[in-house]
Amino acid sequence: MIKVENLHKHFGGFRAVEGASLEIAEGSITGLIGPNGAGKSTLFNVIAGVLKPTSGRVTMQGEDITGLPPHELFHRGVLRTFQIAHEFSSMTVRENLMMVPGEQRGETLWNAWFQRKQIRDDERALLKKADEVLEFLTIDHLRDEKAGNLSGGQKKLLELGRTMMVDAKVVFLDEVGAGVNRTLLNTIGDAIIRLNKERGYTFCLIEHDMDFIGKMCDPVIVMAEGKVLAEGSHDEIQNNEQVIEAYLGT
Ligand code: ADP
Ligand code: MG
Repeated sequence: MIKVENLHKHFGGFRAVEGASLEIAEGSITGLIGPNGAGKSTLFNVIAGVLKPTSGRVTMQGEDITGLPPHELFHRGVLRTFQIAHEFSSMTVRENLMMVPGEQRGETLWNAWFQRKQIRDDERALLKKADEVLEFLTIDHLRDEKAGNLSGGQKKLLELGRTMMVDAKVVFLDEVGAGVNRTLLNTIGDAIIRLNKERGYTFCLIEHDMDFIGKMCDPVIVMAEGKVLAEGSHDEIQNNEQVIEAYLGT
């Protein structure tokens, strides 16, 4: 699905990503782990178009997508979740989902604002879709809650829900489990597995919780110092000398 070749991202003289190469197989839930500062988030941001690479190449199903801006990647189904922006915290959960433009809509959604009939049809479709997403994620009881009142884990579910408002193909999740309680983490995990199995989403997850990685991810890719150190199953990774050393070294 996604192939990263010899990717570099330097910030001034600092080499956050230094020649990383990896592949994310279609239909996989690939884990990305590594010590703090390994370059994981930077790599995600380069793939998802948030940062331009210094050099290297990213392809999607053989097509060059290196350095494409986020909205173009969005239309190709490449999504990275973002925290709910402050401006959206006073909107309800359902309204937050509806803010995500549907495929090919973008600006026209706003033009259509003045075309009452059009907007009413569009809105009905969006409402229906948002309600389906809420039900799928088992958070329909939070439909009319203000996003700002959600717990950390519920916000993560909402972020995941936004990827379901469009036809995502590959979704990048950066530390989805951080600060989330066990119960909600399981709900998030179940949603990811169902999206993978039932809707064919490919996932790449950055995660620190090794239990979660073990339960969810195959393969697991390990990064250290801007490079890919190892790749394998959860068990292989855990018994890899270089990996153990990289973690102990920090
Ligand atoms: P990880 O997600 O693996 O913890 P990051 O990709 O966030 O690592 O960061 C890798 C390194 O790059 C860190 O040392 C970090 O301080 C540095 N870094 C990240 N973003 C920037 C930036 N915008 N400017 C300068 N240095 C950065
Ligand atoms: Mg990070």
